[in-house]
Amino acid sequence: MLAVMMALTPVDFYKSMTTHADHVLQGVMNMKCPVCVAAELIHDTRDLPYTYKGKTTLIPAVTADFCSTCDESITDMAETERIMRAMQAFIRLVNASVVEPTPIGSMSRKLALG
Ligand SMILES: [Zn+2]
Repeated sequence: MLAVMMALTPVDFYKSMTTHADHVLQGVMNMKCPVCVAAELIHDTRDLPYTYKGKTTLIPAVTADFCSTCDESITDMAETERIMRAMQAFIRLVNASVVEPTPIGSMSRKLALG
């Protein structure tokens, strides 16, 4: 007699749950800048200048991957959120303290890194 009772077993379900996609972001030692693709990013903690309506503030101790070529900085989720909050707080501060109209056209891009 042939045993043909080998139907579905729970093992089939567990097998399908294993992921093999977690190696995609691993194994990259030197991360290139996604903007200029010319330079490697330098992991560092710096004060990040932020300019709004001609006024500049420093967002202190931002940990990010900095590009030495194009001034780009890549932050993780937590730092991004912290920076966004700092920017929004600064924007509110500037808007609250503006007493004179800011001339449009003074938006020249400055290199703030020394
Ligand atoms: Zn770059």
